[in-house]
Amino acid sequence: MSIRFESVTKRFGEATFALSDVSFGVDPGELVVLTGPSGSGKTTIMRLLIREYTPEEGEVFFEDQSLAKLRHRQVPTHRRQIGVVFQDYKLLSELNVWENIALPLSIIGKDEAETESRVTDLLKLVGLTDKAYLFPSQLSGGEAQRISIARALATGPSLIFADEPTGNLDPAASLEVIKLLRQINRLGTTVLIATHDAIVLEFLKAERQLELKLGKLVHDSRPHQKAKKPVETKEAAESETLPEPEETEVESLDDDEPAEKAAVKKVPEVEKPKSHRPKTEEKSDNSKKSAKKPAHAVT
Ligand code: ADP
Ligand code: MG
Repeated sequence: MSIRFESVTKRFGEATFALSDVSFGVDPGELVVLTGPSGSGKTTIMRLLIREYTPEEGEVFFEDQSLAKLRHRQVPTHRRQIGVVFQDYKLLSELNVWENIALPLSIIGKDEAETESRVTDLLKLVGLTDKAYLFPSQLSGGEAQRISIARALATGPSLIFADEPTGNLDPAASLEVIKLLRQINRLGTTVLIATHDAIVLEFLKAERQLELKLGKLVHDSRPHQKAKKPVETKEAAESETLPEPEETEVESLDDDEPAEKAAVKKVPEVEKPKSHRPKTEEKSDNSKKSAKKPAHAVT
């Protein structure tokens, strides 16, 4: 998964420049911290990536595909490649944890067996297997955010964009969430974290940082040649030497490596969405299950 912003300007009206002539590139497998004060344009970058916004000037590329050239009907498939994590989690309150994670899978028509195995792996990855049958209101903020990360990973996106993921969390929960995002990155998914949280910035200071101010990219701690021009030859690609990030220990939230790898692996696309209702009954004994049953049918 690669991203390229080429001289991107996004305006609202005549005077508000959410982004002003912004150029940068992100290579597959990178972890990039997008920082800058409130209003500097971080969320706008996410909305451009999911093609919710289109720029007034410049071009955004995802996997070398110009997003301006995506047809309307291609947008949902494009969006499936990007898992977005929000500050306020955006879990559905009437669905339990298991069903929240399963929802994106049911939307793309995954069968019950695959859904069950994926949700199981994802719950293991985020370390919350024992919370599967709780509802969002029964979770701490940190737990809710870890579930929203599991949901973002459900369809096997190549990019996770976490937009102020620790904005509602205390320092301890913030670090757990950031360590989880870093672990997901180390398992192979490209991760962008938009944040102005000092704790997060300090913790990720060895990672690449892009800094925005009033819509301008004012600093890139590891600029890429690709931001301006794609590398054309193999030799040029090989000569592109980037400083290695400081080695830090991988904090594993779970010892089960193969399950973690499986949890972030790509889910192949299916042709036609079909209706699916997550199977919760057989999954646990009644003592684990919440008394409330969600009155919903996922379509
Ligand atoms: P950040 O995420 O860094 O806080 P945003 O990308 O949300 O910043 O916003 C950047 C600027 O663009 C702000 O001035 C904001 O008010 C403006 N902006 C963003 N989205 C919209 C919109 N949909 N309509 C009008 N102005 C917007
Ligand atoms: Mg924002």
